Amino acid sequence: MANPTISTETTSKRRVYELDLGGLSAWCESQGFPKYRAEQIRRWIFGHRVDDFSAMHDIPAALRAALTAEFSLFPARVANHQVANDRTEKLLLELGDGQLIECVLMRETDRRTICISTQVGCAMGCVFCASGMLGLKRNLTTGEILEQILRLDRLLAKGEQITNVVVMGIGEPLANLKSLVPALDTLNEKGGLGIGARRITISTVGLPEKIRELAKLGKQYNLAVSLHAPNDELRNRLVPVNDKIGIDAILAAADEYFEITGRRVTYEYVLLSGVNDEPFHARQLAKRLQSRIAHVNLIPMNGVTELEFVAPTAPRTDEFVQVLESFGIPATVRKRKGADIDAACGQLRLAKEREKTPS
Ligand code: SAH
Repeated sequence: MANPTISTETTSKRRVYELDLGGLSAWCESQGFPKYRAEQIRRWIFGHRVDDFSAMHDIPAALRAALTAEFSLFPARVANHQVANDRTEKLLLELGDGQLIECVLMRETDRRTICISTQVGCAMGCVFCASGMLGLKRNLTTGEILEQILRLDRLLAKGEQITNVVVMGIGEPLANLKSLVPALDTLNEKGGLGIGARRITISTVGLPEKIRELAKLGKQYNLAVSLHAPNDELRNRLVPVNDKIGIDAILAAADEYFEITGRRVTYEYVLLSGVNDEPFHARQLAKRLQSRIAHVNLIPMNGVTELEFVAPTAPRTDEFVQVLESFGIPATVRKRKGADIDAACGQLRLAKEREKTPS
């Protein structure tokens, strides 16, 4: 069920929040209005969660008309809106060109975490992941990334705020830094949603040059590296792009990320029963990470209908954690959210795409 007050028409107009404060100020002036109107407009969007330009009551009617003529607010169509028993919510958005993307809101006692997508599909081809199964269609624009965030924000009750953002949805975020960075800047910016860089986590398959580029931005984003295997032979099988990169190059770039930003890097490791979950895998992983200030986030495989990989049993998972901890590596097992609604990213889109073109 979509929020009925949000316009669902598809239009090719630019999203107004694609302009930063400076850009919107300049546009206001070009229309014959003072610069400060831009701050007011942004307050309506980011602070008061309006769904329509007409609701911006202290904006002169002529400026509202100019905004409506030139920009859109929420042009994507909500193709599906699921709410899980644990109140995790997932939106499947249909973009102007008919492409589908997913984004998720997760509720915990003191946190409201959103998970957003950066691409339509993915080119990385990780063998256990639903997002890459149909390949990469295209990058998302900054506006499309921000629309996910603002729509999820509008699912919250008055007084509730987004506290954390994880860039772990569909796509490889570092392959689309050009669109992602301005979107995150808007989140940080005064007058934006006010989400600090330390509460934003970017998850990557591990693209060394892009990790360095991110480090040089001078922001304190958290970096999560999807390692999934402790040696190249196994990682090449699970994460095919590793063939041209190699674990050493990724760890070196992640070390630089830590040196420059001071942020502890998280290593993600999807647990696949009988594939990468043996105690010796944990020992190998621990030895590689031992000299580093690192944290391991174990993700039990989230079943994908067409794939045979399954998560290990709980005792087996605990054993993996214990081996890592015996080497002094902090490890946590990711809690499953929204289990009854396929909340893991990529699965809803995959199901809808398969409906369109049965194979
Ligand atoms: N491209 C980014 C973001 C991917 S999604 C990256 O590679 O990090 C975030 C995490 O979920 C990644 O670690 C990814 O490998 C993992 N993941 C993908 N499919 C999964 C599945 N079916 N079960 C558990 N984790 C999965």
